[in-house]
Amino acid sequence: MENLGGVIVSGAGPVGLVTALGLARAGIKVTLVDAAPTINDSPRAAIYYPTTLDVLDCYGLLEDALHVGYKSTEFQFRSPAENKVVSIDSSILTGLVRYPYNLHLGQHILADLVLQHLSRYPNAAVRWNTGLAAFEQDERGVTVRVDTAEGPQDLRADWLVGSDGARSTVRRLLDLPFEGHTWPDRFVATNVRFDFDKYGFAPINQVSDPVNWAVVARLGKENIWRCTFGEDASLPEEEVLRRIPERYAAILPGPGKYEIVAASPYRVHERCVPSMRVGRVLLAGDAAHVCNPCGGMGLTTGIIDAVELSDALSAVITRQRDDSILDYYSDERRRVFRECTSPTASHMKRVLSEKDPHKRREDEQAYRTSAENAEIGRKAMMYPSGVIGRPFPEGIYERADATA
Ligand SMILES: Cc1cc2nc3c(=O)[nH]c(=O)nc-3n(C[C@H](O)[C@H](O)[C@H](O)COP(=O)(O)OP(=O)(O)OC[C@H]3O[C@@H](n4cnc5c(N)ncnc54)[C@H](O)[C@@H]3O)c2cc1C
Repeated sequence: MENLGGVIVSGAGPVGLVTALGLARAGIKVTLVDAAPTINDSPRAAIYYPTTLDVLDCYGLLEDALHVGYKSTEFQFRSPAENKVVSIDSSILTGLVRYPYNLHLGQHILADLVLQHLSRYPNAAVRWNTGLAAFEQDERGVTVRVDTAEGPQDLRADWLVGSDGARSTVRRLLDLPFEGHTWPDRFVATNVRFDFDKYGFAPINQVSDPVNWAVVARLGKENIWRCTFGEDASLPEEEVLRRIPERYAAILPGPGKYEIVAASPYRVHERCVPSMRVGRVLLAGDAAHVCNPCGGMGLTTGIIDAVELSDALSAVITRQRDDSILDYYSDERRRVFRECTSPTASHMKRVLSEKDPHKRREDEQAYRTSAENAEIGRKAMMYPSGVIGRPFPEGIYERADATA
């Protein structure tokens, strides 16, 4: 058995990487293991709100992220059936948040940036092709069985973090139920080259329609857009992919050549574990909670989990706080999910696909009021800040500001 000490983080998605970086910055020994050979580059989250930009700044990542990402301030609510478009400019948040804009870049690019920064810390290591298969915990630590190209290996550490995504092995081995529900529809995330600009689209657009609803957002500096729409979950995956041209004919705002760069159908859920801590094992990100992607709340919440967990765990390891702070982490992050993340994502999903014309008019009016009244608009645009949650009681470990 290899005794590593410190923390093993299982899962090098954005949440595991940010958790590992937070621990490394605090001088904690951290070993990040991932079953895959490299960062997962499938089309997933791509837009970061001011809450995430604050984290990137605090961790010394913002400058690099701004260099590769696309900055935007405009959001549009579109209702093609009624021929209505409402634009809201997030610069109204100036003075309320440090970064009153959104940043667009694929989550794999963000993950790669975090990985580059993590590699500068001698107390951090990343092992790819190393999948967690089993673990046992006792009063003093956790023994983890990993599968590697050389066969199974046993690693020992003081703590284990499961950030291994929605199908988390750590959550399954803890025997924790994933409470909640699965939506009856399937989402189809497509990345497409198309001149949405030509049709007046903003960098982020919510196209509300009972059938042909879509979320359309620029993915970065290139003219590639994420166009996500819905299909019936009973359709086989191949059929969903085959139908893309006919769905595009109804969803795209006008004629013009398009090129599909990637397409990925997936089921969506609203689920959360009953606890994000079991002894010396902690969960973060999708391993602990999942929501539908409308409103971009999933990774926005996961990134704050990562920051809070690395702060709390660092404070416990350096004996600045006792381990009850980890229970606080679990309770508070679950509260945030139940009271903010999941209700916001569910509300956004309803607004997108609302069938009742009366409610659709009310939704449009609500957006129009936000666009016309800066005070109401500011309040509405601050919705992602709910993911921050309440600070740890009696303060906590002071996060190091220096970058490696
Ligand atoms: C198609 C799609 C589109 C999405 N679009 C959006 C969006 O627009 N906005 C939004 O906010 N969210 C979106 N999401 C959700 C968002 O991608 C997730 O919230 C985010 O990836 C969570 O990050 P994570 O680090 O917790 O998990 P993941 O990114 O899933 O990372 C988990 C990591 O764990 C590794 N792993 C798995 N099992 C093991 C194991 N046994 N041992 C070791 N490693 C393991 C995996 O290889 C992976 O690297 C989307 C998701 C999907 C699937």
